[in-house]
Amino acid sequence: MIMPEIIIGAHMPIGGGFSRVPKETVEIGGNTFQIFPHNPRQWTAKMPAEEDVVHFLRDVKRYQLNPEYFMCHSGYLINIASTKDDVWEKSTELLELEMKICAKLDIRHLNIHPGSHLGAGEKSGIERIAKALNIVFKREKTVNILLENVVKKGGNIGYNYAHMRKIIEACEQPDRIGFTFDTCHGYDAGYDVTKPEGIQQLLDEIDREVGIERLKFIHLNDTKNSLGSQKDRHENIGNGNIGIEGFKIFLSNRTFSSIPLILETPGGNLEHAQDIAKVKEIYQSIVSNR
Ligand SMILES: [Zn+2]
Ligand SMILES: [Zn+2]
Repeated sequence: MIMPEIIIGAHMPIGGGFSRVPKETVEIGGNTFQIFPHNPRQWTAKMPAEEDVVHFLRDVKRYQLNPEYFMCHSGYLINIASTKDDVWEKSTELLELEMKICAKLDIRHLNIHPGSHLGAGEKSGIERIAKALNIVFKREKTVNILLENVVKKGGNIGYNYAHMRKIIEACEQPDRIGFTFDTCHGYDAGYDVTKPEGIQQLLDEIDREVGIERLKFIHLNDTKNSLGSQKDRHENIGNGNIGIEGFKIFLSNRTFSSIPLILETPGGNLEHAQDIAKVKEIYQSIVSNR
């Protein structure tokens, strides 16, 4: 039997330029990818060189990759939930620049962590997030934002979907907001993605609060920590507390197996190739048992 194809990829390195990404994606067994639009530990970013963009776009075509499934991950310093004006302004400006880099590379989705209110309270944090999104959506009109679920620590917003609903409600262009569900963050935040009941509860919550059609991507990561630990440490597929059996149950759900799966597991291309192979094997066993 021919296995229906899953859409899968990993977080890819961009050192030396974006042009390396499509080829290396195919080499590790992927058909999509995630990248940083710039060095994620810096406040600065520059538009990619013309030659790099041309090479990148040519290879996307050459390897027959679908840009609809590509995503960028925002830098680590950005915090649009901050109630400190200087941090919030710098964050909003850098987010806008990241969106412009995405647009240049024909990437339609930029994934962000909603941010931390740093003690100012969830209500103020959510207001700041919506205010920033309203600004960047006016300045850049093609790239959509994906909000990623996080764990409950350090004033984080986005460890449940009630937060996400409030962000959407305060946003002037809600149609440009989608969601990424990260399995490691979800499990660490208390969503038991290894059990059918836990998965059903999660899907019900997403659908009730924001609408299931807004779930666009999965960050498929195993976790080093226990259920509800509120930590955030990724592990390679099958080596953590979700485990092969847990991923079998998770991916048996067609809601998850029909959207792009992006690995952010430890290691580089070599480890990601192994993780992609494991996920394909898991998926194969699910499909052949149907
Ligand atoms: Zn993630
Ligand atoms: Zn994480």
